[in-house]
Amino acid sequence: MKKNQESGIKNHGKQGLTNPRKIKFFETRIADFFRKAGREHLPWRKQNITAYEVWVSEIMLQQTQVSRVTSYYAKFLKRFPTVRALAKADWEEFLPYYDGLGYYDRGRNMLKAAQVIAKEYAGTFPRDKKLLEKLPGIGPYTAAAIMSFAYGDEHLAWDTNLKRVIGRFFLGGKQLVSDEQFWEDAFQTSRKTLNAALMDFGSALCVGRPKCEACALQSACVYYREQGKREKKRTTNGRRLTAKKIDWKEAQAYVFLHENHKKFFSSLKMSFKPFILPSGYNTRAGIKQYFRDTYGLALSVRPPHRKMSLQGRPTLLVNAQILSGQPRFKVFSKKAKEEYTENIGHRVSRAFRAS
Ligand code: SF4
Repeated sequence: MKKNQESGIKNHGKQGLTNPRKIKFFETRIADFFRKAGREHLPWRKQNITAYEVWVSEIMLQQTQVSRVTSYYAKFLKRFPTVRALAKADWEEFLPYYDGLGYYDRGRNMLKAAQVIAKEYAGTFPRDKKLLEKLPGIGPYTAAAIMSFAYGDEHLAWDTNLKRVIGRFFLGGKQLVSDEQFWEDAFQTSRKTLNAALMDFGSALCVGRPKCEACALQSACVYYREQGKREKKRTTNGRRLTAKKIDWKEAQAYVFLHENHKKFFSSLKMSFKPFILPSGYNTRAGIKQYFRDTYGLALSVRPPHRKMSLQGRPTLLVNAQILSGQPRFKVFSKKAKEEYTENIGHRVSRAFRAS
């Protein structure tokens, strides 16, 4: 047993929370679950997956449901089978294979990262977690997932599922994992298996409201023993704190550009789509500046007519009128804009409605 593993177990052991036998129990039961109910049918779980294929799946899966991603994943890889193929694409070529997944900054970063890998790494993802983390849009979680799933290297991919399962079972609450290095040293199972198993377990059983009655880890789980009291923060009047505090300064702006409310300009050629501005352009002054600098247009910008969350991200819907300049965009009627806003209305997240 490694030295820091021993001292870590001692520290956690003092609180009566874990010991080597308990870690072994955890790994065995998680492995049993994975053998019986792992999602090995998912296309990104195949043997000999490439770093590129892992990366595409992980970026698409950020804040997007598995079922939705599976319908995009195959088409995307068919059109862009390698990172070099993706690096050659521009935004217009890329968008039809990504549009609908949301978080357009994520998509832009995919293109940028592909270009860096094609140019600086001869089209191969570096087998180095720190170098991966320097690429646009790749953080510690995605880097660890690439390292473990594609290269078989030993890194835990700390997403919300891993934190929730480990935090609850050993410490009594999903928010209680702090010493990630301790857990990196503690487990013996290969990271490729453990990451996949914990992701699946956290999606199937140890979900927001955990299904403890169906869980084979129940007998040793701190969360279960304490009925989740460490996790459930309550307000003074006893209600659960669930609604998130929203930081509208971080919001993305969807701009509906028009001329006299008759002609509506689309950012796409084939269908109506508002202009989704990059991060940082979400005030009236910022929106004006963006259109002036990017398209040479002077606008009158209204205050946001709706604030909402789209796929978990604060979003402002804004109407803007062209005052001067030559718009070079496809024109649609007001009806197209109304249909679009009605359609996205269905995708507003509940967490934000609650706030
Ligand atoms: S008993 Fe409940 S809280 Fe504990 S690991 Fe199982 S599902 Fe999660």
